Order: sequence, then structure tokens, then C-alpha cells
Amino acid sequence: QTTIRTLGSTQVLTDPASVVKELIDNALDAHATSISVEISTNTLDLIQVRDNGHGIPPEDRLLVARPHCTSKIGSEEDLKDIGGSSLGFGGEALASVAEVSGSLTISTRVEGEQVATAMKINRQGEVTGQDRASLPVGTTIKVTDFIKSHPVRRQVALKATEKTLKKIKQLLQSDAFARPQTRIALRILKAKHDKGNWMYAPKPGGNAEDAAFKVVGAACASQCTWSVVEENGFSLHAFLPRADADTTSRGVAKQLAKTFKQALSKAGSPLQGAKELFIFLEIKCPPASYDANVEPAKDDVLFEDPEVVVTAARRLFEAVYPAQPE
Ligand code: ADP
Ligand code: MG
Repeated sequence: QTTIRTLGSTQVLTDPASVVKELIDNALDAHATSISVEISTNTLDLIQVRDNGHGIPPEDRLLVARPHCTSKIGSEEDLKDIGGSSLGFGGEALASVAEVSGSLTISTRVEGEQVATAMKINRQGEVTGQDRASLPVGTTIKVTDFIKSHPVRRQVALKATEKTLKKIKQLLQSDAFARPQTRIALRILKAKHDKGNWMYAPKPGGNAEDAAFKVVGAACASQCTWSVVEENGFSLHAFLPRADADTTSRGVAKQLAKTFKQALSKAGSPLQGAKELFIFLEIKCPPASYDANVEPAKDDVLFEDPEVVVTAARRLFEAVYPAQPE
């Protein structure tokens, strides 16, 4: 059931990488096990995300792209849980995309329906046309001519194409690790009818290690090892370069250990100088111990007691990189 609520936050999506992120988050929230992202080389002509999730039920369809429309908050209780069990943030992503796109089409089909419904959405997020479409259960969101009517933003975005594609690849990589059971693939379309190759598609049901082999390559992954620490209800799993990895990786490992120690000593500061490093770190936390809702993109997480996480992380890294005599 869709509820409308004003959460007091405004999210203007003008970066194609943020659009991809929001669409993938929606697919993950719909329990998709397979997500395909297609984007044109200039990142603006076409952004399309297809998933095999549960689809959008007919009663929600007229509202999904309206501002502040979300099916993920049904009660005040749920409000506290945003960023916990769902990746939603107050039903703004689709509305924001609708507002700044040349066209937005949402095609969806739920279990029990014979065909899918393709809906054309206008800038206000209203459904202006519906058609039957032949698609399996799931949802496809197709955005064309993104930020076309915002010439300045468009120019800025066109200059940042390479950067944006890199951001999207990194996003897919981290998603591939965070959700190894989900197949997330990317295809960059060079021309309109081009069918490029799919990138990143760890086998479904795999773990972070499988994802590493697929995403960063066997050469890198075979130099890595697991480290696990469990403490006070927190559990940390890392897949990172072994201390005895080959020269390049060892250099990387040392740098990593040093960088991380520095970062830990100023707990909370971002890892600095860590360029193109491969490290997978999964932190499982007790539900009420953190708030992932600090900002809409959920890149920052606020811990009630960051010391617990920092201590656990320090133990985890020290297990792989024993302190070197000074
Ligand atoms: P939010 O994710 O914060 O709820 P969005 O604007 O991203 O807001 O999406 C609005 C609503 O549209 C969601 O709450 C959900 O009900 C529906 N929706 C969007 N994308 C999908 C999808 N891929 N599969 C199923 N439902 C979706
Ligand atoms: Mg969303």
C-alpha cells in the first residue's frame, strides 16, 4: 500500500550515477535476484534498469512517481527503520527522475498478471499513458534524454562522462560484493542498436569471494584472504590482500594497513591515499545500533557507539597485517 508523507528532505537527482544507484536500490528493495543496467556512452541519452523483483502492484502504479510517494513506510515505526530493512528514502527518487528527464517509462508486472503494463510518466510524475508490454515479472525503468532541458547541467554532465561511468562501475562493483546472491550486470551502449557486452555478473548464489574473482579478476582475488571478527553483536568480514601477497599486492597491503591505522587513529575520517585498492569489508550490526539515514544517498552511517566498530576493525586488520617493528 502506498502512503504519501513529507519527510522534509529534498533530493534533486542530476547525476546519472545517482539515478543508477536509486534505481538499483529500488530493484534490491523489490527483492530482485537479477538486475541489468544499460546506459548510453554519454550517460544521458538512455539509462535503463531492469529487474526481476516483485513488480509494482496495480493499486500503486498511478502514484509511484509522484513526489513523496513510497510503499516502504507504512507507519511511524517504519520511519525509524528507513535505511534498515529498505533502501528507500521517502519516495523521492522516481519523482525527481521524472522531473528532469526527457521521458520516463515504467514497465512492470506482478505475479499472476498475464502481461506487463508500460506507463509513460510526465514531469509531474503523473501517468499519461498505459500500454501492454510483454515482459516477465519485475520492473523496467527507462529514462531517456536525462536533464535535457537543463542545458548547464547537461554540459557539466557531458564533460564528466568518463568520471560518471567510472562511478557507476564502482557502484556496481560494491553492490556485487554487498549482494553476492544478486546478479547485477552493466552494459554500456555505444550506439542506439548496439548490444555491448555485459560486465560484472557474479554467479547467483555466490559469496564475496566469487564476486571478487569476477569483478576484480582472479589475479587480484587469489592474493586475498578472509579475516573475520565478531564482537558485541557486530560481525565484520573482510576479504583483503594477504600480508604475503606478491610484491604489488604486498605494497598495497602495507599501504592499506598504514592508511587504515591512520584513519582509525582519527576515527571517523575517510580512508586517505587509498587509491584503486581492493578490499571488501562487510559490517553486520545489531538493528538499533546505527542510523543509515543521515543523508539521502546513505553513503554515511552513524553508529551509536563507533568505538565498538573501530575496535573490531582494528582487530580484523591486525590479524592480517601483524604490527611491523618500527
Ligand atoms: P522509495 O524507494 O523511497 O520508496 P522511489 O521514488 O525510489 O521511493 O520509489 C517509489 C516507489 O515505487 C517505491 O516505494 C516502490 O513502491 C515503487 N518502486 C520503485 N521502483 C520499483 C521496482 N524496481 N520494483 C518494485 N517497486 C518499485
Ligand atoms: Mg527508492
